[in-house]
Amino acid sequence: MRQFSTDVSHELRTPITVIRGQLEVALFTAQTVDQYRDAIVDSLADIERLSQIVRALLLLSQAETGQVILQKQQLDLVEVAAGVVDQFQIPAEGAEVTLQFIENVPHCAGEFDRVQIERMLSNLLSNAMKFTPSGGQVRVSIDRLDDMAEIRVEDTGEGISPEHLPHIFDRFYRVRGAGEQASPEKGLGLGLSFVAWIVRAHNGTVDVESETGKGTRFTVRLPLNSPVSIPQIDSSGVSTSVA
Ligand code: ADP
Repeated sequence: MRQFSTDVSHELRTPITVIRGQLEVALFTAQTVDQYRDAIVDSLADIERLSQIVRALLLLSQAETGQVILQKQQLDLVEVAAGVVDQFQIPAEGAEVTLQFIENVPHCAGEFDRVQIERMLSNLLSNAMKFTPSGGQVRVSIDRLDDMAEIRVEDTGEGISPEHLPHIFDRFYRVRGAGEQASPEKGLGLGLSFVAWIVRAHNGTVDVESETGKGTRFTVRLPLNSPVSIPQIDSSGVSTSVA
């Protein structure tokens, strides 16, 4: 809890300091309307980031204290994943990354919360895209192993080095300088915390294997029919390995 509060204060303090600095500089030095306007535009962008952090944190803490109850319904994971992959096709073309969806089974039906499964896939895919430079490949595949669904999100991007791998599911954890080549956009370091929660809430597991300079593979396994559970804050179900 103490580490969490320290992290939150740090994450919120940085954009607040930046906004204050921009506005002070504008107040004391700006002379033209354009200079005032630039300072306001920059400040609004930082305020938007601040709001995103607060919204994500609220949702994550509600999720981790059991206040988000899964809305499970009968779903076909193949159809859900195909929809999410589709949403990334245009950005993938723009980034010159080949995005493939491989359905090794025609259907993979089970009881899942659609919104959360889409969020999980979307977080894994946006990371794969963010950390894969142009010319690379991102692949999503679905398999069915007895009563488990196996979803893989693989990329040929920059990979994650062994010292960082055990921490990537921690809140606010980001590898310094990572993704800069492929995307200048800075993440919040919360995406994988959501993934870990969603997987636990569905009684599943998530594994990560990575090799620096070669790529990363996340493997999510979800039972196709399991009772709803309310996961608490721990790292069960998460495992990491270095290729
Ligand atoms: P972020 O908002 O920074 O993406 P995440 O919690 O989703 O936060 O990820 C934490 C960190 O894990 C990222 O900042 C990045 O360093 C690393 N990471 C996650 N996915 C990948 C990937 N596919 N390839 C390389 N690094 C990754």
